Amino acid sequence: MRVKIACPKCEWEPDGGAYLQCSCGHVWNTFDTAGRCPNCSKTWEDTMCPKHHGGCGKWSKHLDWYRNLADQLNKEVEKALKKETVADKH
Ligand SMILES: [Zn+2]
Ligand SMILES: [Zn+2]
Repeated sequence: MRVKIACPKCEWEPDGGAYLQCSCGHVWNTFDTAGRCPNCSKTWEDTMCPKHHGGCGKWSKHLDWYRNLADQLNKEVEKALKKETVADKH
């Protein structure tokens, strides 16, 4: 399944460009590396939505950008919880 990536605040979708600048000065596409700077290996837990490229300029948790992934995880959790509930009844 393809994971949809979009800003949790404004629904802007990354177009593959390098927009996040690390504190070391390196600019890269943070979604290529799950938030890790390829130059200094610093991991960014938050990702900024690039205002100059149509985004809202706000910071969000990097994981919140992955939509289907979260949905998929929620479904798995729900499934697991249901199983537990059923098991309790027996
Ligand atoms: Zn860096
Ligand atoms: Zn945004």
